[in-house]
Amino acid sequence: MPDDALLVNEIFYSIQGEGTRVGLPCVFIRLTGCNLRCRWCDTGYAFTGGQWMPVEHVAKQAATYGCKLVEVTGGEPLLQPAVYGLLARLADRFDGVLLETSGAVSIERVDPRVVRIVDVKCPGSGEHERNYWPNMDLLTPKDEVKFVISDRTDYDWAVGVLRRFDLPSRCAVIFTPVFGGLPPAELADWILQDRLPVRLGMQLHKLIWPGRDRGV
Ligand code: SF4
Repeated sequence: MPDDALLVNEIFYSIQGEGTRVGLPCVFIRLTGCNLRCRWCDTGYAFTGGQWMPVEHVAKQAATYGCKLVEVTGGEPLLQPAVYGLLARLADRFDGVLLETSGAVSIERVDPRVVRIVDVKCPGSGEHERNYWPNMDLLTPKDEVKFVISDRTDYDWAVGVLRRFDLPSRCAVIFTPVFGGLPPAELADWILQDRLPVRLGMQLHKLIWPGRDRGV
């Protein structure tokens, strides 16, 4: 895999549907490939395909939208060595750079200006044994941790992780119900009953554009 080019699945401009910047216009750079296979994955089309692009070309194309917020996502973007150079270039040009990563790869080498959104995989994903736990010690207050929750077992497991790493005191924590699976009201009730200091994430882009997967 070259270290000055990236296999890019898509670059698009949309509304940020998740995390603490939900609702803001944002440019998305989706890289191809993932080493996990979460049961509820909604971006399976990013496992393959795409086109090789020089890192500088990717950064330039992202800048053409005139938006100052950009997210690098996947797939699992940290599997491509050239992503670190891309993140640094984006941080030079954009006011906000977000990285969405599966939590199975170390975030240690990511440019410190980048907001790292770490998806901790719950048991319902089938991939919870792949979580790279040293990442939890690298989180800073600007970072975010996301749990996609499919049922009560996932919820109880996620609460255990929160407590084990004292996550709410370290960064924003988002609990998102599996779309079309766990009813959001049920997850909201559990959060309120337990007085959990977490955000309920609703994947806004799926509510705005139901049934569309690419380009949103
Ligand atoms: S880590 Fe993300 S892209 Fe990879 S299988 Fe899981 S949900 Fe899909």
